[in-house]
Amino acid sequence: MDLLETLTQTPSVPGREGRIRKVVEAHIRAAELFDEIHTDAMGSLIAYRRARPENGAEVTSPRKVMLAAHMDQIGFLVRHIDEKGFLRVNPVGGFDTRNLFARGVRVCTRDGDLSGVMNPGGRPIHIATDDEKKKVPIIGDFFVDLGLESDDVNGRVQIGDMVVLDGPFREVGDYVVSQCLDNRVGCWAQIRAMENLKHHSCDIYAAWTVQEEVGLRGAMAAAFGIAPDIGVACDTTLCCRTPGVPEEDRVSVPGDGVSLHVMDSSMISDMGLIEDIEAVAAGQGIKCQRAILPRGGQDGAVIQRSRSGVRTVSFACPVKYIHTVTEMSHKTDLASYPRLLTAWLETL
Ligand SMILES: [Zn+2]
Repeated sequence: MDLLETLTQTPSVPGREGRIRKVVEAHIRAAELFDEIHTDAMGSLIAYRRARPENGAEVTSPRKVMLAAHMDQIGFLVRHIDEKGFLRVNPVGGFDTRNLFARGVRVCTRDGDLSGVMNPGGRPIHIATDDEKKKVPIIGDFFVDLGLESDDVNGRVQIGDMVVLDGPFREVGDYVVSQCLDNRVGCWAQIRAMENLKHHSCDIYAAWTVQEEVGLRGAMAAAFGIAPDIGVACDTTLCCRTPGVPEEDRVSVPGDGVSLHVMDSSMISDMGLIEDIEAVAAGQGIKCQRAILPRGGQDGAVIQRSRSGVRTVSFACPVKYIHTVTEMSHKTDLASYPRLLTAWLETL
């Protein structure tokens, strides 16, 4: 859990993945998990491990398997600094503005991080009109207050600096609660799966990709470079078994294991791969579940459509309250995720 905590607490929004890449790279280098590691021009971290069959023999023309976990999180870039020193921000990734009221934020500048508070412009409830109370603000209404004089802000903050919401990592009941479980869980599962993987007859390219939250951009370039035979997106999915959501819209069930996306709005998984993975899960007593996400996509979509097409499947950890700072994942689902990935890769 220490590694997952570190990953969730390292800020990195689309186009600003340097910090999280450093954490992942340091970990996989220290653990000596791969034969070669490089960063591509967009910033995705790509690690290669040659086939390691059980008998130690050379594998002739091994299949290439690409794993992809996006390492960016939804956040903002500073768009404007006003004359009073308040910041306006541009979102990078999809936010529900109802989750943005009264948030602690971190503004990451070239000279270090500044703590701030985010709120929408307008009067507080005591003095608001009835009409004002009903209005749901748009992103452009929100500003960041750094508690500093405008000269000070102008000296320290630049247009384009990254802004992230702050939310701690905690264990609550059978769950882990944190910001950024989407998708530091996928980044973590990919690392843990490779740590546990001993023998495999395929060549593995593990990619920690950039700019997923703004349209699967890093995975597109990475897939072209790798040219895989099989693609595996490692991400998260909705888990809406919560009050106010009809049972048929739950998407996934907490505690039933990692989900295999049969389809989402970006991709239809290769059913042969899903059935193979389910057979491995059944054989080894590892929990997993099927899920269909009517709206939302992930990196698998662009891997599948790269070059002349790639057989692709998507692993996704159920996450409640996704895209908030209190995302929740069941510990059973977290445990099953790298376990199933390792067990299946051993068969390839
Ligand atoms: Zn994601």
